[in-house]
Amino acid sequence: MIFNSESSRLNSKFEDFILYPRKISGNKNSTNSAVFFDRDGVIIEDCHYIKETEDVKLCPGVKMLLRELYRKNIFIVIITNQSGITKNFLSWKDYKAINNKMIQLIGNPNPINAIYGNSYVSDKPSSNWRKPNPTMILKAAFDLKLDLNKSILIGDRLSDIMAGERAKIPKLFHVLTGHGKKEREEILKLKNNKNICIRSEIFCIKNLKEIRKDLVFLN
Ligand SMILES: [Mg+2]
Repeated sequence: MIFNSESSRLNSKFEDFILYPRKISGNKNSTNSAVFFDRDGVIIEDCHYIKETEDVKLCPGVKMLLRELYRKNIFIVIITNQSGITKNFLSWKDYKAINNKMIQLIGNPNPINAIYGNSYVSDKPSSNWRKPNPTMILKAAFDLKLDLNKSILIGDRLSDIMAGERAKIPKLFHVLTGHGKKEREEILKLKNNKNICIRSEIFCIKNLKEIRKDLVFLN
């Protein structure tokens, strides 16, 4: 994966990422498989611009799935749009407090490798970090030496799935948690429209509990 480091220069007003130290065993020369997760509506329940840490609740199946990925040495990367920060519904400090509460609920040791967030309101230009642009995925692949061909993405919105498709991730999973029910029809249109160049396979699932059988693909 080639990523233009010029275009990845951090715009700290709108972009933030944190890499968590984690020991990965195995061949250091090979690239790594990853599972990309959206945050709100996939890892934690979507609370519409969530700001209060007491509102943080994990979605069904999160703990077990993340622990299994951790055991298998598969990278876990969260990519999240946070336009509410620019719209003044919450601050970057609030956003980080939510992330910390989420990690606390997931439990020790923290299985997450990185969280990329952005507060852009529009996805223009197409190089900015807001999904459906694939920029956060490409930056994570560059930062963590990930092989996107051996990775999957899980999201509840069309914009998540489109970001994964644009990053050429081969398997994309749409869940019904968060905004999933509302967006499923659009996902099915995308999945079934033969006129759109789809380089990825889209799987429609109920929640994260259904994904564990697909992890064989990542080994
Ligand atoms: Mg979401």
